Amino acid sequence: MCAVTMATQQTTLGARMIQRTEVAPGLIIVQVAPDGWELPEFEPGQYTVLGLPGSAARCAGSDPDSVEHDPNKLIRRAYSITSSSVPRDYLEFYITLVRSGELTPRLFALEVGDPVLLGPKITGMFTLDSVPEDRHVMLFATGTGLAPYMSMIRSSLAEHRGRRVAVVHGAYHSWDLGYRAELATLQRICPHLEYIPLISEPADEPVAWSGHTGFCQDVWKARVIDQRWGFRPSPENTHAFLCGHPGMIQGMLELLLEDGFAEHSKKSPGQIHLEKYW
Ligand SMILES: Cc1cc2nc3c(=O)[nH]c(=O)nc-3n(C[C@H](O)[C@H](O)[C@H](O)COP(=O)(O)OP(=O)(O)OC[C@H]3O[C@@H](n4cnc5c(N)ncnc54)[C@H](O)[C@@H]3O)c2cc1C
Repeated sequence: MCAVTMATQQTTLGARMIQRTEVAPGLIIVQVAPDGWELPEFEPGQYTVLGLPGSAARCAGSDPDSVEHDPNKLIRRAYSITSSSVPRDYLEFYITLVRSGELTPRLFALEVGDPVLLGPKITGMFTLDSVPEDRHVMLFATGTGLAPYMSMIRSSLAEHRGRRVAVVHGAYHSWDLGYRAELATLQRICPHLEYIPLISEPADEPVAWSGHTGFCQDVWKARVIDQRWGFRPSPENTHAFLCGHPGMIQGMLELLLEDGFAEHSKKSPGQIHLEKYW
C-alpha cells in the first residue's frame, strides 16, 4: 500500500504492520503500531491479541482453510510481546507459521502498511513480578517461546546487573534462532547475562555447529548454567521460566521438580513459571 493511501485511510482494525523481518522461512518478527491511539503500560512477559478478518488472504505455501470463514468475522490469537515496555510507539512479535492454522497464514501474507487488529488489552502472569529482586533467572525457550524473554531482557534484565540471567534458546537449526545476533551482543556487553543457543538437528548445518546440541533438558542435565555462573542454580537463589514446545515445558518441569524447585501459582508461590502457547 502506498504511503499516501496509508496516511488518508484510517483502519477500522486499529493498527498497522510497520515492519516485517523474515528470520527464516515460516518465522517472522513484526512490528505493529496503533493507528490513532496510545498503547497502554504493560509488564514485560505479557501478551496481547492480533487479529484479521476471515476475508484476509492466506500466504503462499500455506494449506487451504479447512473450514469456511465468515469474511467479516475476526480471527484472533494471543501473542507475547517481544518489544521493550519502556518506549511504547509500537509492539513487536515473534511469530511462527502454522501452515494449517487459521490466523498465522493470514498474518504472514501482510505487507508493511497493511491494517491488523491489535488488542488494546495487554495481560498475562508470565512476568518477573513475583521474582524477588535478589534472585537469578533462567529463561528456557524453544522457538517463538523466546518472545516474552526478549521483552524482559530489553526492558530491564539487561540493565539489572545484580542478578544473573541465563537465556537458553532451542531450535531445530541455527537459522531458526531468532534474535541470535542481539542476544550474542548483549552477552558480550552484559557480564551478568549468558546466552546459550542450542540446535537439535546439527547434521543439517551447512557449516559445523560448535555450540550446544539437543534439548533444553540436556543443557540443564549437563550443568551448563552452573559452569557459566560458577554456582549451582537452586530454588533458594534462582527462578526458572519455561515457554515454548509442550514437550520442553513438561521435560524441564520434571527435572526442576526433581531438583527441589516448585511450580509457581498465585496461591502457592514457587520458582517455576510456565507459559503454554498450545
Ligand atoms: C499466551 C500466549 C502467547 C502466545 N504467544 C505466541 C508468540 O509469541 N508467537 C507465536 O508464534 N505463537 C504464540 N502463541 C500461539 C498463538 O496464539 C497461536 O496459537 C498460533 O499463532 C497459531 O495460530 P493459528 O490460528 O495459525 O493456528 P490454529 O488454527 O489456532 O492452530 C493451533 C495449533 O497450532 C500449533 N501452534 C500454535 N502455536 C505454535 C507455535 N508458537 N509454534 C508451533 N506450533 C504452534 C499447535 O499445534 C496448535 O494446536 C501464543 C499463545 C498464547 C496462549
